[in-house]
Amino acid sequence: MSDCLFCKIVDGDIPSKKVYEDDEYLAFWDIAPKAPVHILLIPKQHIASLYHLDDSNVGVVQGMMSKAPEIARLMKLDDGFRAIVNTGDGGGQEVGHIHLHILGDVRKATWSGF
Ligand code: IMP
Repeated sequence: MSDCLFCKIVDGDIPSKKVYEDDEYLAFWDIAPKAPVHILLIPKQHIASLYHLDDSNVGVVQGMMSKAPEIARLMKLDDGFRAIVNTGDGGGQEVGHIHLHILGDVRKATWSGF
């Protein structure tokens, strides 16, 4: 989607600090980390939010969830992590491309608003 920030990151038009990439998914550091580790995991396919799931794209989101432990292992979050999907305006979602926040060491988090 041409006006989507995370699609621009997928396309390489906006730089990101990547930690993982394959054909379907990308994980990169949040630009304003709310915890010592704060990674955003996204599908490369544009899906606006969890509210926009349907039969055609549910597999992509299931795949994203199953990638979460792989990203956690990559980031050495072996003692656990917090995974969050903000959905829609009422859910505090700011970027309209579905993403999973993966936060580590949350007791040192700078923001408790999640
Ligand atoms: P949301 O509020 O769940 O939509 O989360 C969006 C997240 O994207 C926020 O935590 C932002 O800090 C983060 N963010 C916004 N712009 C960028 C960027 O250009 N690169 C990486 N993260 C970003």
